Amino acid sequence: MDVTTPESLRVFKALGERYEDGSYFNENLEVACHCGANTYKFPVNWPVDKKFTDIRLCQCSDCRLQTGNLASWLVRAPGRPFDPESTPETLTAYKISTSTTRYFCRVCSSQLFHRHIKAGSSLSSSEGDTADSDGFWIFTGCLKLPNKTQFRLGLVGFVDKTPDGGLASWLPDAEYTDSCGIKITGEHIKRLHSSRSTSSGTEKLQGGCHCSNIRLRLSRQTGKEEERPPFTFSDNTDLVIPHWTSAEQQPPIDWENPWWIRDQLPSLEGKRFLGGHCTCVSCRTIAGTEVQSWIFVATSCIELILPDGEVIQWPSRETLVRGLDKRLTNIMGIYQSTPGDPGVVRGFCKECGANIFWDGFTRKNLIDLSAGLFSIEGTKEREWIEWWTERVSFVEDTKGRHDIGTLMERGLREWRVTVGIA
Ligand SMILES: [Zn+2]
Ligand SMILES: [Zn+2]
Ligand SMILES: [Zn+2]
Ligand SMILES: [Zn+2]
Repeated sequence: MDVTTPESLRVFKALGERYEDGSYFNENLEVACHCGANTYKFPVNWPVDKKFTDIRLCQCSDCRLQTGNLASWLVRAPGRPFDPESTPETLTAYKISTSTTRYFCRVCSSQLFHRHIKAGSSLSSSEGDTADSDGFWIFTGCLKLPNKTQFRLGLVGFVDKTPDGGLASWLPDAEYTDSCGIKITGEHIKRLHSSRSTSSGTEKLQGGCHCSNIRLRLSRQTGKEEERPPFTFSDNTDLVIPHWTSAEQQPPIDWENPWWIRDQLPSLEGKRFLGGHCTCVSCRTIAGTEVQSWIFVATSCIELILPDGEVIQWPSRETLVRGLDKRLTNIMGIYQSTPGDPGVVRGFCKECGANIFWDGFTRKNLIDLSAGLFSIEGTKEREWIEWWTERVSFVEDTKGRHDIGTLMERGLREWRVTVGIA
């Protein structure tokens, strides 16, 4: 074979092989948001350093409310994606605290970067940190790893910031720490598992994003007409009936007891919402997190509290998509994706980037709301939410990327036993 130049030699090198000079095949970590407005490449050496593949989760309340999810999912950036003094126009910067700034896509809301301005928090003071003064971290949801590389669940931090263990209690085999970076054992998590969430007895479930421009108040579903077909409608959800189930085997929607109206806990009055976790490619890349947690809510149960304090009913899809209410277009970004996600409307907070809702075309007056928005005190809110423990939605999409979805399915089943759900 005529391979004479060093360049063509490189093309024929297999991943992981060394060059004659002893250096490794060079690869890139690529970050690309869902809409494609933002793409970044970070050159790394092969084999890829574990700090770029071991995911760290932060469960603090800032992370929950700013993403709309139950944790931030981050790996250290191998360098600076841009000069922090001049943020690219395609990104919105949101100062989450005096020491940290988040960057998300202005168009599709993908969370992309997290930057520590000064040392001192658990993320920036971790051992093995290089002298990377800007302290950039990458949200893993939009990160593509080189071929043959997989993500691994690394550390779950700030577990004590969730009175019930939060996402950590559904993630077995991880290493857990509290907000001081002190190790927490699986036993500790187990105790938190069974602790009550804090919303019991409240008449409405309160939620909101980090900047508080979008605040929500949910009343209980009771099974009344407005919450059921034909007024409120949805086909089956992949969470409950996997998408690969043949049409003949899909049960029809039960008109009296549709899947989104769940029974109460034995000790309490009132129906509950269904909650579940999704690992589909769209959710992952739009959220920037490997797992997106949703609750399914009939819109007749949702009140929106505007920044001036006025309370309105959740608006119609048309109002949101066509921008008919100026008060809403000022605060809510709308993203209508694309091939792969036809007819889907998603909404996010324009100011802080929190993921707010998902609305599909086979639905009417029923939306998914980001569960992290309702984690101001507890995170599981069991009096309000029945968490689905049989399946992680679109777990098939994580094949080859990581095994966190299947791990979480195991964690959910174990949790079901621990808390004594029949
Ligand atoms: Zn985008
Ligand atoms: Zn955090
Ligand atoms: Zn916000
Ligand atoms: Zn999804």
